[in-house]
Amino acid sequence: MDSNIESFEVFPWNDNFSIGIEQIDNQHKNLVDLINELTATLIQNDEMELTRVFDELATYAEYHFADEEKIWEKFFDDDKWLQSHSKSHKSFLPQIIKMKEELIDLPLSVIIEKIIKFLIRWLAFHIIDNDKRMATVISYMEGGKSLKNAKKQAKEDMSGATGLLIETMLTMYDGLSSRTLDLLRERLERIKAEKKLQEAYSKLEELATTDQLTGLFNRRHFDQIFEQEFRRAMRNKNAITFMMFDVDHFKKLNDRYGHIGGDVALKKIGTLLKQLCRRPGDFAFRLGGEEFGIITLEQSYDDAKEFAENLRTNIEDLGVPNVDSAVVDHMTVSIGLITKKPEQNDNPDLFMRTADDRLYMAKEQGRNQVVSSG
Ligand code: GH3
Ligand code: MG
Ligand code: MG
Repeated sequence: MDSNIESFEVFPWNDNFSIGIEQIDNQHKNLVDLINELTATLIQNDEMELTRVFDELATYAEYHFADEEKIWEKFFDDDKWLQSHSKSHKSFLPQIIKMKEELIDLPLSVIIEKIIKFLIRWLAFHIIDNDKRMATVISYMEGGKSLKNAKKQAKEDMSGATGLLIETMLTMYDGLSSRTLDLLRERLERIKAEKKLQEAYSKLEELATTDQLTGLFNRRHFDQIFEQEFRRAMRNKNAITFMMFDVDHFKKLNDRYGHIGGDVALKKIGTLLKQLCRRPGDFAFRLGGEEFGIITLEQSYDDAKEFAENLRTNIEDLGVPNVDSAVVDHMTVSIGLITKKPEQNDNPDLFMRTADDRLYMAKEQGRNQVVSSG
């Protein structure tokens, strides 16, 4: 659940809810927490969570009522006050269930509002009126009064101004819960809108950096990444590898199998590159047409050569037919490679030019090969 949502409490605890019996006060606080949790869940329309929190509230309420009644029983025996108090406890859950059934056809937001307000009003009233009255009787009895006199005294204490204050407080809680529910809803809407915006932004960013045909990074992103990794390698005095490769006799492949056949072949290369360039320091790009680039970081010259050779054979192993190729009867590539620790007057363009020159040499020397030194 979102922590921003939880930080709003529809039912804030107030010290006036303390009845002076610690065990009961703690249990009341738990009930209040559960109502706040229930509200946060209801607002998010999370059906499964909703059932869980509702069940938790019901179970906890039953447990608490039983515990509380055990305390009252010690002082009240079978007194009328205890009987009506138990009755009030027993009516709690059936009232909620009945409410849920009666409201079923109303919009969810209305149901939520009505149930939450009922829970708050019921619990607040029950605590500050019924429970406090019982606790007051107990404290008078502990002070030496008989049950009858203690009840009389408690009744007087809770009448007049106190009764009015209770009513005022409950009305305030009503208004407060309405406003908090509105706030919660607004905040949830905003969080949802922000998430959507973030997703749209990520998608846009992905579109701007990805080549649509192969799913590899595009040329634009290559310029950015190469510059950035080149500088980093220079700072850290690490080697950086750049390899550039180009499909051999791709024009012939296109002419024989059609442009769509050519596209399928390029897609296969894209999929393969994604599999081969898995480490965090590997980046694969479609630089344009049937030309690709790979950047790898912190690789030795020998490792880079092995990587390039492995790439070359893997592309052959794809077995994409190119019967008109002057090399073999299937798709091959020529690769130009440079691995170097960038020095003071090196720059990405220089690396590119070197890799391109070596690629040209690979073509000149018969294609389907890796050239890694000049
Ligand atoms: P070489 O071995 O010297 O590289 O010969 P080549 O035929 O591969 O090179 P050339 O540059 O003559 O031809 C490349 C062809 O690639 C020409 C162009 O139509 C084709 N091409 C470029 N981009 C795409 C694309 O996105 N899809 C398809 N199907 N073909 C493309
Ligand atoms: Mg080519
Ligand atoms: Mg070409």
